[in-house]
Amino acid sequence: MPPEWDAYEWEAIGRERASDTTKLIRVVGAVAPIKTRGKYKGHPNWDKLEKDTIRTAYFTPDEHEAWLVQWEQKTGKCAECMGSGERSVGWSAAGGTRYKPCEKCGATGKTANEAVEKVFS
Ligand SMILES: [Zn+2]
Repeated sequence: MPPEWDAYEWEAIGRERASDTTKLIRVVGAVAPIKTRGKYKGHPNWDKLEKDTIRTAYFTPDEHEAWLVQWEQKTGKCAECMGSGERSVGWSAAGGTRYKPCEKCGATGKTANEAVEKVFS
């Protein structure tokens, strides 16, 4: 996948009951142009994603966790919101992407791992 490839949707599958452990994480992503103006400047424009770059990947929870940690170390961004400070909470062709502030990083978009390093170094 090219570096511009980003995930826009993920879902834990294999959980029929709340007590079930997650068996697999389904991640869907694509390459999308970055918005250059407007309220969501800097966000991928999922309304104009390149349809032939849509890929679905499956991870085990351990693999997914490892991938997110690696991604945070590589980018210094919060994996929850992909560094935007806002988490996309849904996407549809009709309504576009909906966002709400990311709770994990306090809407800063920075990884918590980096914050911890700063405190102790
Ligand atoms: Zn975040």
